[in-house]
Amino acid sequence: MSPFSSDSVAKQLDYCTFCPKMCRHACPVSTASGRESYIPQAKMDRLNQLRLGHPGSGSAWTTESTDPLWACTGCRHCTMYCEHDNEPGLVLLTGRAVAVQKGVTHPALANYSERFRAREQRLTAQLQAMFPDRLATEGDVGYWPGCDAIDKGAADIAAALAVFDRVGLEHVKLVDAPQACAGYPLLAAGHRDLFRWHAARVAASLRGFTKVAINCSACLYAMRAQYAAEGVHLRTEIVSLADILAPAAQNLACNLQRKAVYYHDPCHHARYNGVIEEPRRALSQLAEVRELAWNKADTECCGGGGLLPKTMPAVADQMAKRRLAEVQASGGGMVVTSCATCTHMLSRNAPPSVEVANLATAMAKLSNTDFVVPVTSVVDDDAP
Ligand code: SF4
Ligand code: SF4
Repeated sequence: MSPFSSDSVAKQLDYCTFCPKMCRHACPVSTASGRESYIPQAKMDRLNQLRLGHPGSGSAWTTESTDPLWACTGCRHCTMYCEHDNEPGLVLLTGRAVAVQKGVTHPALANYSERFRAREQRLTAQLQAMFPDRLATEGDVGYWPGCDAIDKGAADIAAALAVFDRVGLEHVKLVDAPQACAGYPLLAAGHRDLFRWHAARVAASLRGFTKVAINCSACLYAMRAQYAAEGVHLRTEIVSLADILAPAAQNLACNLQRKAVYYHDPCHHARYNGVIEEPRRALSQLAEVRELAWNKADTECCGGGGLLPKTMPAVADQMAKRRLAEVQASGGGMVVTSCATCTHMLSRNAPPSVEVANLATAMAKLSNTDFVVPVTSVVDDDAP
């Protein structure tokens, strides 16, 4: 059965095609790129033409005709301004899956499944080498740092473990599993069959834990919503890292002079997972939390979702720079976020006056909690 035979997908594509572009201002990809063909209405219209296969309307599935399908981080900001609650961020994922079925992918994602598998092997070995004494296959609460944290944020994992020890959560262990990523990148790459296969294996790896806290906003969404949609049922409760840190944060002693920090809401946390107040609650024990102009459910994407850093890296970086421009204009400071991917995207685009910190690292720094950064292997930006 074609994914397009779903009434909901077809209806959303038709509604967007004839919409007077009511959400165009909300899409950070079109704003950062300056391309009209990347506004939500134009991307949905393009997918609708491909779906309907109208002769002579650019409806052949080619690398060029499918390019707009990849110009989306799945941030869901357009949905916030849609009278019909349409979901371009999810419908475009369906379009990517159909494109891959037809043998068309983005050139930057060639051989993606093999690259994903190789990275999984490298990162699981890397996690075991970095934290050999903190891994477990079962327990009450497990900690799943996510692939971007293992690859580029080893200090954030070390900080989280140090904070756990300080606040009485020393029983929380890193999940020892043959997987490092919960699979959202496979979904974003259009490899839905592989995502389903991978999700089943992750679910089996987590079976020994009652609850697992995860430090990746997109994979939290994938595990909660997309696993079930693909028929994979988790026995384990999945929560965000902020969910377990917030109740315990009062056990940390803060500096006498409270620093002011900004909080960036990861869009998957704020608009899919409902993780909005817990990170603020955790931080507010230690610092004055300042709001960015676009915040909470109206947050603006940092550019890290939807594999945009792979398919359109310049646009993704521009989105991160736009996100930090407000802090820079106010004289700089610390920007805290609660997702490993957001941390990496914002860090690599931060001007000198802005320090970007993952939630656990910020909490460690603000409470003078020492942590030792493990030696890591070479960071590989190749995939996902
Ligand atoms: S998501 Fe809603 S507002 Fe945006 S183009 Fe589609 S129908 Fe219009
Ligand atoms: S989900 Fe985000 S990136 Fe995708 S079309 Fe909507 S606003 Fe743009």
